[in-house]
Formats: sequence, C-alpha cells, structure tokens
Amino acid sequence: MLRIHGVAAVRTAENSCVVLGCRRCLPPLPDGAEPRNPPDPVRWGRDAVPMTTTHFDYLIVGGGMVADTAARGIREIDADGSIGILSDDVDEPYTRPALSKKLWTDDEFTWDKVPLGTADDTGADVRLRTRATAIRPEAREVDADDQTFSYGKLLLATGGKPVPLPIDDHTDGARALSFRTAEDYRALRALAEDVDRIAVVGGGYIGSELAAALVQNGVDTVLIHTGSVLGDAVFPAGLAERFEKLFRDAGVEIVAGSKVAGGRADADGVQLQLENGDEVRADAVVSGLGIEVATELAEQAGLQVDDGVVVDAQLRASADDVYAAGDVANYPDRLLGRRRVEHVDNANEQGKAAGRNLAGAAEAYTHTPYYYSAVFGIRYEAVGTLDSSLETVEDWTDAEHGVVYYLDDDRVVGVLLWNVEDARDDARAVLAEADTLTRDDLVGRIR
Ligand SMILES: Cc1cc2nc3c(=O)[nH]c(=O)nc-3n(C[C@H](O)[C@H](O)[C@H](O)COP(=O)(O)OP(=O)(O)OC[C@H]3O[C@@H](n4cnc5c(N)ncnc54)[C@H](O)[C@@H]3O)c2cc1C
Repeated sequence: MLRIHGVAAVRTAENSCVVLGCRRCLPPLPDGAEPRNPPDPVRWGRDAVPMTTTHFDYLIVGGGMVADTAARGIREIDADGSIGILSDDVDEPYTRPALSKKLWTDDEFTWDKVPLGTADDTGADVRLRTRATAIRPEAREVDADDQTFSYGKLLLATGGKPVPLPIDDHTDGARALSFRTAEDYRALRALAEDVDRIAVVGGGYIGSELAAALVQNGVDTVLIHTGSVLGDAVFPAGLAERFEKLFRDAGVEIVAGSKVAGGRADADGVQLQLENGDEVRADAVVSGLGIEVATELAEQAGLQVDDGVVVDAQLRASADDVYAAGDVANYPDRLLGRRRVEHVDNANEQGKAAGRNLAGAAEAYTHTPYYYSAVFGIRYEAVGTLDSSLETVEDWTDAEHGVVYYLDDDRVVGVLLWNVEDARDDARAVLAEADTLTRDDLVGRIR
C-alpha cells in the first residue's frame, strides 16, 4: 500500500495524491464542481493551501544530462516505478556539448540529434518550466510553483547557472548572453546570422569553443580572456601558444590579459570596459565565465553542502533517500579524492549510477571521469587535475599528438591526452599507480 504523509493513499491515473485525512493536498474536484477560493476552512483546515500533490516513486529535480541518465539507470533496475523530472528549462533533456561544438561545425549534426529522448525511452514524466522552490526531506516533499510533489527517492541534479557578465544590459538578454541552454544556443545562432561582430568573454573551454564556432561561421569574433596566452592556466606554455595560434590563424581577434569590469548593452550594440581602462565594442556579447553551482535548494533543506551537495560513495546526500549527482555533487572519487566535476562524462556515468542506486542497487560510484574539448579539428581529453602551475612532463610523438603529465610533489595528479585516441583507461591507470611511478616511467607510457 502506498503511504503518503504517513497515511494510506491511493494513486490516481495521473499519480495525484489522494490521501484520506491529508490536509495538505486537495484531491481532484468532482466533475462540474467549481474550485473555492479561499478554500473551505471547515473541509480543509485553516492553513489549507490550494495545492495539488503528485507522487512519484522517483523524483528528479533538474532536467539536464544527469536527469536523462538517472532515469535510464532507474529503468535498468525498476521497469515500473513512476519517474518525475522537474525542470525549469523549456526543452526536454538534451546534450549540452553539441551546443558549442557540432551544431556549429558539423553539417550532418542536425537539431534532431540534440534531445536525449528521456521521456520516450524511460516513460519519465518530464515537467518543463517547473522550478522546484523547496524541499522538505522529513515529509519527502518538493514544492514547485503551485504544486507539491511527494517522492519515494529524490535525486538533486540541478547543475549550475552561468556566472553573469557584470554589464548593464538594456536589451533583456537579446545582445548579452550567457551560454548554458539550448535556448541560449538558438539566441546566439540567430545573432550570428543577424550581426557582424560578436565578443566572447572567457578563455575556458566554453569561451574558446564559442569563439571557434563563431569565426568558422563567418562572424567577426573577438575573444577576451584573462590569461597571458589562451589556455595558459591549464596547458604548459609552449602548448598554450600553439593553442592560441589556432585561433589567431582562423581570424579571431584575441584580447589577452583582460578582465571585463563593466559595460553596457543596448539596441546599438555592446561596449565592454576592461579593467585596464580599454574598451571593446561589438554588436553582441556572449560569456563563458563558469557556473555558480545550484545548491540553494539543498542548503535550504538543511543538507550538507560544501562546494556542492556532499554525497557519499553511493551518491547519497545527508538526508534519507536523497541523492545528488552531476555538476552539483561533491563526491569521493576513488582515485582523485573528494571533488566536484563539471563535465559530461561524469554527468552521464554518475547520473546512471545514481539512478541505479535510487532503485536499490546500493553500488559505489567508482568511475573516475574524463573531460574533453574540441576546436579546429583538435580534440583533447583529460583525467585528473590540469594546472599549469604544477610541474609537467611532456611526451610528444609529433607536433600534433602527445601526452602531458601533471605532477604535484613528484606524484602524477593529472594526464592530458592531445589528439590521442582510446587512452583514457591508460591515463586512469597512471593515476591509480601514482604512488609508485617515477617521472622516468612516464615518457612512452601512453601512446
Ligand atoms: C555549452 C556547453 C558545452 C559543454 N561541453 C562540454 C564538453 O565538451 N566536455 C565536457 O566534459 N563537458 C561539457 N559541458 C559540461 C556538461 O554539459 C555538464 O557537465 C553537464 O551538462 C552537467 O549535467 P547536470 O545534469 O549535472 O547539469 P545540467 O545539464 O546543467 O542540468 C541541470 C538542470 O537543472 C535545472 N534546474 C536547476 N535548478 C532547478 C530547479 N530549482 N528546479 C528545476 N530545475 C532546475 C536546469 O535548468 C537544468 O536543466 C558543456 C556544458 C555546456 C553548457
């Protein structure tokens, strides 16, 4: 027997909560009956709120990449349990990496390849434009807009939202975009067709991919970044110079060593003020400044949060039957120690593991994720920590193919694979053996 709010309940065809004696939820009105406003205090009690409650065996808050793989993970174990996905996005779960890569550079990669098909494949009930606003772990309830959802197991997969560009935007986002969603892609694509010159702010992988995408689509592109050379925070100096040269050779104007301190966007275009007093003008601006991890719900619910929702090896948060995965989760990596990872391989694998555990698998997440980026025909992948302030050992087979090992106190903590295919497991093996490997063991180790 299903129990909600501690009492016996029945489930309607729509999975609505119909609980005898429950004063929080309003059962559906009989045919023809008019809703009463305010609700009848005799029937519903003085504090009654006109909310409906919908029950899901598995409720996922966040409708991104983790939501998709978690729903698939649940289905590997439980064919029938109801799955609800609450998403404040306007699109069903989709693949984000394509938004800054293949959709711009591969004519055969058309829009129909972007949605992940979550609802069709898993039967999940995906509620779009539905923002969760509160979680009550002790009651096993989540509020979203004017509804309440009750759950058997809850997964937090809220990812993060882009760090905003500090400018005065009078265009309501029409000429000043951040870049995270499919809607952002559609807006930037329309701008790329309408205007001549677009500024990209941020030299991380999203900023650099967007600059490459725009220039390859005929847009006059200026890339503003804080490093001395593009990529110099992660790549050794020589490699960063080669990386930046790819962009210059393609026609991207690079404004290095510069931080946007302010500016204005209006119908005439954007004007960006740099910290050094210089100014950059363009018709529009798109920024890739990283994300602010979306932990507000977890914090408000009293869950342990420390640079993300803290989870254990089975991805369980600090309240019963609540899990977290993906960009929002701070988890203990088997090889690399506790961390939060903002990359797609982690979203896919951790989402699947979380889904399986929601459905009772009780398995530890042991996958150490890799990440990748692709620009101008180059693909690099990495496992572990890439930080150019660490000592590096470079092993190049030719100018285009090589491996860089990052060492902290003589111990390998990160491996970069530059145009080296099928070597991610080799990189993980190096990290697993880090305690015993010397630097002489590294050259030639991965080919
Ligand atoms: C343009 C782009 C390119 C990328 N390229 C790469 C790449 O090449 N390689 C790589 O390794 N990684 C890449 N990534 C990163 C990768 O896509 C993310 O790590 C991954 O999407 C994280 O998945 P997630 O489900 O944790 O978060 P997300 O996919 O961000 O999903 C979070 C979802 O939660 C929703 N949400 C948040 N709060 C609420 C709320 N309160 N109520 C309801 N819904 C809510 C959001 O709207 C969103 O739908 C890229 C990311 C972007 C944006």
